[in-house]
Amino acid sequence: MNPDCNLSNNVRFHTNYSMKTKKCRKCKQEKNIDCFGKYATAKDGLKPLCKECLNTEHREYHIRNKERDSQRGKEYRQKYPEKGAIYIQDRRTYRPKIHIVIRTRSRAKRLGIEFTITDKDFEIPTHCPILGIELCTTNHKLQDNSISIDRIDPTRGYVPGNVAIISNRANTIKNSGTADEHRKVADFIDKNMQKA
Ligand SMILES: [Zn+2]
Repeated sequence: MNPDCNLSNNVRFHTNYSMKTKKCRKCKQEKNIDCFGKYATAKDGLKPLCKECLNTEHREYHIRNKERDSQRGKEYRQKYPEKGAIYIQDRRTYRPKIHIVIRTRSRAKRLGIEFTITDKDFEIPTHCPILGIELCTTNHKLQDNSISIDRIDPTRGYVPGNVAIISNRANTIKNSGTADEHRKVADFIDKNMQKA
């Protein structure tokens, strides 16, 4: 909220009128014209509601529609269950970065992990940077070569600079232990393979 809302000093004059204040149609308060958005076709060039009231209206409208839209979505998905699956499969195939962002964001929200990245913050390589296997974005079910988003430092969230796309296989292995544990397992395998 603009703290200067009810003050009439420092008025910025707009093009074709000289009024300094205007009464909001909703809250009925006489407010500085700076508190009103521009509206070219109105006689005074200003919107009838003050910015504060307009924000409230937009918020309420959004909340009303959110309930209505989620109900409509629910009914639609019940009526056409196959369409949702097709949509997600298309998204996964044709917009894999968007798919990863949407899927990971809801997972991060559920787990309380910070999430500030967008699809601009990572690239999908052709091959897994850890295992070198060719990556696939079109798998229906998670497979070894499916793409997977990795937090480089797992103590930090999905924030710019801390994510990389690797294979699902590499991610599974990586998340099952620390670097030190992996080194010990690898050393053990090497040592025993030599003996065998
Ligand atoms: Zn108002």
